[in-house]
Amino acid sequence: MEYCSVPLCTSSEKYSLLSFHSFPSDTELRAKWVINIHRENFPITSHSKVCGRHFLPHDFIEPCGLRRLKKGAVPFQPVSLYTVRCTFITSPTVP
Ligand SMILES: [Zn+2]
Repeated sequence: MEYCSVPLCTSSEKYSLLSFHSFPSDTELRAKWVINIHRENFPITSHSKVCGRHFLPHDFIEPCGLRRLKKGAVPFQPVSLYTVRCTFITSPTVP
């Protein structure tokens, strides 16, 4: 079971509409993630994930699609209200 590393965030894999993102391998970017989610003293492993609620729509390559993050995207705390809205869009059509 995957769960979100952000303090106070209760997201886990059982919410299948949410995306989960591994910490970046780039040291500098990873440090930004850790600071932004207030996990400075938290051991980050390859299994640590941050859920899609901590990113803004423009951080994703496809905001309502596969939810892949753009290069350099950084999460934040608390959760975003935008991504929740996105999960209700099911149509794959692109204008
Ligand atoms: Zn989360």
